[in-house]
Amino acid sequence: MLIHLRIYGRLNDFIPKKHRYQPFHREIPETTSVKDLIEGCGIPHTEIDLILLNSDPVGFDTRVEDGDQVSVYPVFMEIDIPADKRLQRSQLKDPKFLVDVNLGRLARYLRLAGFNTAYRNDASDPELIEQLLKEDRVLLTRDLRLLMHNAVQTGYLVRSDQPQIQLQEVFDRFNLYSQRAPFTRCSHCNHHLSKVDKTEVEERLLPKTKKYVDDFAQCSRCGKVYWSGSHLQRLEPAIQKLLLDD
Ligand SMILES: [Zn+2]
Repeated sequence: MLIHLRIYGRLNDFIPKKHRYQPFHREIPETTSVKDLIEGCGIPHTEIDLILLNSDPVGFDTRVEDGDQVSVYPVFMEIDIPADKRLQRSQLKDPKFLVDVNLGRLARYLRLAGFNTAYRNDASDPELIEQLLKEDRVLLTRDLRLLMHNAVQTGYLVRSDQPQIQLQEVFDRFNLYSQRAPFTRCSHCNHHLSKVDKTEVEERLLPKTKKYVDDFAQCSRCGKVYWSGSHLQRLEPAIQKLLLDD
């Protein structure tokens, strides 16, 4: 059977050049879900916010039939999509992330910005999926195949290989700017920080810090001590901006 497709916006990045920004068709041997049809073109479902099947909005499980017209739209396209037709959550309440292997610095930056972020660099795909579901997290990965997994509800394919651009990508995709809470979470172990009296951490400080800094926070799990001055200065300007600027 023959299915007619049109892919919109930056979803075109995922498909072969000859099909970009124009109608094309795909031959399939038998009826399938619209999710499998579109992922067969290389687009992970987590990037898709609206699917029109013969002009009607449909969910991922809808079956396609011979002659169907399928239009596929990304998140944040400049069109008004009725809330109940959207396939993605663009604004998350209390977002929690699961960061895949090779994105360790992104994980650290998200924690510094105050977001609950689990990071695994030793987990198999099934282990990642299990944790994702159990803890209701958003998957951040550079692995297209993993994002196409049926169990992944909300996720994002990290494009850049530069951690500071990765952070900006994630902030933009999930609109995280209003939910930042810098220096409230341990970048090392993801636990909450609490204010701690200088006298309690004094013996672990370098002389200069002891002399000039008065406000400290400490991780209640691993004991790491934080003070915003020095931790800020050690971050790249681009990260400082993302963490702090209005
Ligand atoms: Zn810690």
